[in-house]
Amino acid sequence: MKVAVKSLAPNASFGRGRVVEADYAWEDQALFVCVRFAGAEWTCRDTEILDSRYGELDRERRVKERVRLGIRRVFEQVYGLAESPWGILTGVRPMKMVHAMLDRGFPPAELRQILLEVYALSPKKADLLLEVAQAQRPFFRPNPNNPISIYIGIPFCPTRCSYCSFAAYPLETHGHLLKDFLKALHVEIEAVGRLVRELRLQVEAVYLGGGTPTTVQGEDLKRLLGLISEHLLAGQDAEFTVEAGRPETLSRETLNILKAAGTQRICINPQTMHEPTLAAIGRRHTVADVHRAFALAREIGIPVINMDIIVGLPGEELPQVQRTLEEIGALGPDNLTVHSLALKRASWLRKNLDQVRLAQEQGEAMVDLARDYALSWGMRPYYLYRQRHILGDLENTGYAQPGTSSVYNIQMMEERQTTIALGGGGISKLVASDLSLTRHANPKCPAAYASQIREHLNEKLDVLRRHLANSS
Ligand code: SF4
Repeated sequence: MKVAVKSLAPNASFGRGRVVEADYAWEDQALFVCVRFAGAEWTCRDTEILDSRYGELDRERRVKERVRLGIRRVFEQVYGLAESPWGILTGVRPMKMVHAMLDRGFPPAELRQILLEVYALSPKKADLLLEVAQAQRPFFRPNPNNPISIYIGIPFCPTRCSYCSFAAYPLETHGHLLKDFLKALHVEIEAVGRLVRELRLQVEAVYLGGGTPTTVQGEDLKRLLGLISEHLLAGQDAEFTVEAGRPETLSRETLNILKAAGTQRICINPQTMHEPTLAAIGRRHTVADVHRAFALAREIGIPVINMDIIVGLPGEELPQVQRTLEEIGALGPDNLTVHSLALKRASWLRKNLDQVRLAQEQGEAMVDLARDYALSWGMRPYYLYRQRHILGDLENTGYAQPGTSSVYNIQMMEERQTTIALGGGGISKLVASDLSLTRHANPKCPAAYASQIREHLNEKLDVLRRHLANSS
């Protein structure tokens, strides 16, 4: 009950004040649920959950879902709690539930009805989930452990963005750790490469992320990409993404190195094309840097370019978001990822909310605007996730031109494929045949990663070998 209340009213305190009462009973032909609060009452008789496609665990879960919906409804009456487009779906990965239902044979039309009635989603979000599910399912493989995906994390950035909560160490203060970090990463790449060959694993996607991986430059970048090619990509038919991220790190030389190493997809992330916002959120690059990096990447011939934007940035309203989208449209990226601003606890922004203005009330209109633009460019949504403390209780959506969806993004988000994560703070996800997950984390801090990698690898390779050898 506490969890249900907290998910709808994060600032609720317990132990005093008004009482929420929830009763449920299994009748002959239905689940009966009643929630009462401050004179408001919500009741429901659920017959759908007795369908034979559901199991015992689903029925237990449905009791909680119904109670949660009841709490939402009585809070709406008593406190005027605004309807959320995501209803009672509060998790980070709403697609998982949709895929689980499709796996059991629920046809999309029936599932849509369940999303509306049981989970109280808005029709727009229900349709979005089903559209994304349709785009993702062709990428699901029967064996979660072959092929696999590989993630490599470089936890350094030119500066720290005000909304950032990632392991991202600014070069200015932590650049002295980069050299030893890279040495340790080379050791890990070689070791994981040996394991991949030993177990004859297919690698479907390699994603070099961060941080900003292109904080590594020149000979260091060549050496890093050379090792990735030799140990993780050789003999594989894998998608290879470099999340370049910050446009100011993308010189002609850097892009040429990426291209020569077989990079198929890069991310050039403006977040906004509004100059004052860029300065306000702690990004050192300019709008001109975005244009320059994009033109160079196209000229050099990187096949797929993704651009990330964030809607709801401090001081921005619909006109700024529209201008950003107009400028991005003129560039013509292959992918667009639309994030709704998330106020993560570890971020500067969250701690300094009194100093900024956020147009929370325009969140949904901004997300809709971005969707309209992406669709008008011929893109379709293909992956989606949500975050805690996200603007307007909305979502992040990845759009792609036909044939350019990132397989890594799908596999990483839906967690139906084992991902081995290398580098600082990388979290490997080992997926069992029943799709249950075991996580294994690398040290987060670059200094700890560099000093502990050899010892850490002994144990990590054992864990990976046991899991992968038994499952392939
Ligand atoms: S570029 Fe990304 S990882 Fe780096 S500080 Fe900004 S948000 Fe964080």
